[in-house]
Amino acid sequence: MADAAKGERTFRGIPVSAGVCRGKLLVLGRNRPSINKRTLAESDLPEEVNRLERALIQTRQQLLEIQRKVSEGMGSQEGSIFDAHLLVLEDRTLLDEVVRVIQESRVNAEYAFHTVAERYAATLAAIDDDYLRERATDMRDVTARVLSNLLGIEAEIDLRHLKEPCIIISHDLTPSSTAQLDKRHVLGFATDVGSKTSHTAIMARSLRIPAVVGLKTLSEELETGQYALLDGFNGIIISNPTDQTLYEYGQIIRKQVTLQEKLRDILLKPAVTLDGHRVLLSANIEQAADVESVKAYGAEGVGLFRTEYLFIDRDHLPNEEQQYQAYRSVAAALKPMPVVVRTLDLGGDKFLAHMQVPTEMNPFLGWRAIRFCLQERDIFREQLRAILRASAEGNIKLMYPMISGLDELTQANALVEEYKAELRLENIPFDEKLEIGTMIETPSAVIVAESLARRCNFFSIGTNDLIQYSLAVDRMNEKIAHLYEPTHPAIVRLIKSTVDAAHHQKISVSVCGEMASDPVLTALLLGLGVDEFSTSPPLIPAVKFLIRRLKLGEARDLAQYALGCESASEILARCQDLARQIAPSLFEDK
Ligand code: PEP
Ligand code: MG
Repeated sequence: MADAAKGERTFRGIPVSAGVCRGKLLVLGRNRPSINKRTLAESDLPEEVNRLERALIQTRQQLLEIQRKVSEGMGSQEGSIFDAHLLVLEDRTLLDEVVRVIQESRVNAEYAFHTVAERYAATLAAIDDDYLRERATDMRDVTARVLSNLLGIEAEIDLRHLKEPCIIISHDLTPSSTAQLDKRHVLGFATDVGSKTSHTAIMARSLRIPAVVGLKTLSEELETGQYALLDGFNGIIISNPTDQTLYEYGQIIRKQVTLQEKLRDILLKPAVTLDGHRVLLSANIEQAADVESVKAYGAEGVGLFRTEYLFIDRDHLPNEEQQYQAYRSVAAALKPMPVVVRTLDLGGDKFLAHMQVPTEMNPFLGWRAIRFCLQERDIFREQLRAILRASAEGNIKLMYPMISGLDELTQANALVEEYKAELRLENIPFDEKLEIGTMIETPSAVIVAESLARRCNFFSIGTNDLIQYSLAVDRMNEKIAHLYEPTHPAIVRLIKSTVDAAHHQKISVSVCGEMASDPVLTALLLGLGVDEFSTSPPLIPAVKFLIRRLKLGEARDLAQYALGCESASEILARCQDLARQIAPSLFEDK
């Protein structure tokens, strides 16, 4: 403690929720209850099983109550996070095994529950897949509640009723704890584990609490009562900050507040350049509940609805009716704004936990996206029929992922026609003018873009994949992350070819990969002729801010320079110079 309290120390992690805060630390999780093993008499076993059942019912009631409060206070999307927790309590395989351990090993319920649940959680946590790792966190969250109920103990600290403002430090903060944070008193939080896509990170962003995750051993190195500064923009915690550091951060906070105010001011204003060029800014969404943030951040529609999350986030495939309801609800909520529904993009890093998919040597080059759908016809048929039915709302567009050549596009289009014919026979309405788009994510698609453009109504460039396939750089591998260069001359030229082919065939081009959400690259994309940008909703205001300070002429000059340049870093430097020059407040503290 004495050492820890001396001198300034900096810890670096992953920034997941923007903002800077400073205050006293509250370090959680040091006093976890110990789970002792007790051997029971045969005659005590039925009561032990009953005790377990009562704790499960109590836990379920608590979770439903948290879910209700979260849904009321934060929205249904946040509330639905607890569906995964409730499912753990209904998992018969897990619960039957706990009962078996109680009965066969004649042990107490908390010991049996802890042992079995921890084994499940450890197996999930060890798999190299963000989604499954999150399920491990959910399982541990539920386990901790069940154990507290079995042991009859209250949560260590009631996060709803903190007495003074503090920054929470914890090994892991579960979604249910995060949801209960008292916003008036929790200045920010930091955890040892976690990723950008974890539910806890999603919660932090929704609550607008600055947060940093992935700080490894932070919770062991800091003490309750120490003073620290948390920088959610850059993923930094500084304990015992010096006056100089506090002064510097004071400046940052003042600038950020002004910037956020400016961004709020333009929410409802159009994305138009200083010389009058109008750009469409749309949102990327993953689930039906995301429509709230589409509206909140001033998006002009949905440019990419990643439908695979409807399939991944459950233990069985959604049927046509369930999908129809999801697509229809998004379309109805956003009407007349357009909603681009992308067909299933499973494979690569996105798999269904409940489907037996053979392991592949190169999953990103394997059985994924449109390739999977063209073979799994029943699954594709249900999805296409659901999208077609939902298109009766009048504002839906359909889009295929990972098209690598003309055959795939014509086969998929033929299926759409077949299912349209079915619906006509069944007298089920759909949009006869439904537009169909192709994602441009492979170099081969760029090369045959003219042919593709003749057979669809729009293009959307998936730069996340286009970069990985063109530069042969795995988008998930941090060892070669330095080679993943959006401003590589090859990428610049591929985007230009795609735009040229599209415009030659009089169709529009959007970019829906992460390049579209980086304000540094906005001018380059605009100058290359991109018509629409589709990004995660909270990132829209910054891109719009930049567009409103840019002239199309400047953007075209930048693109011209980039097309003639041979170096990725020189192109990037030019992009940075222009962005910083026209919108310095966006970049000052990064
Ligand atoms: C892309 O590849 O750029 C894209 C938007 O698709 P996803 O990230 O879902 O693969
Ligand atoms: Mg992709």
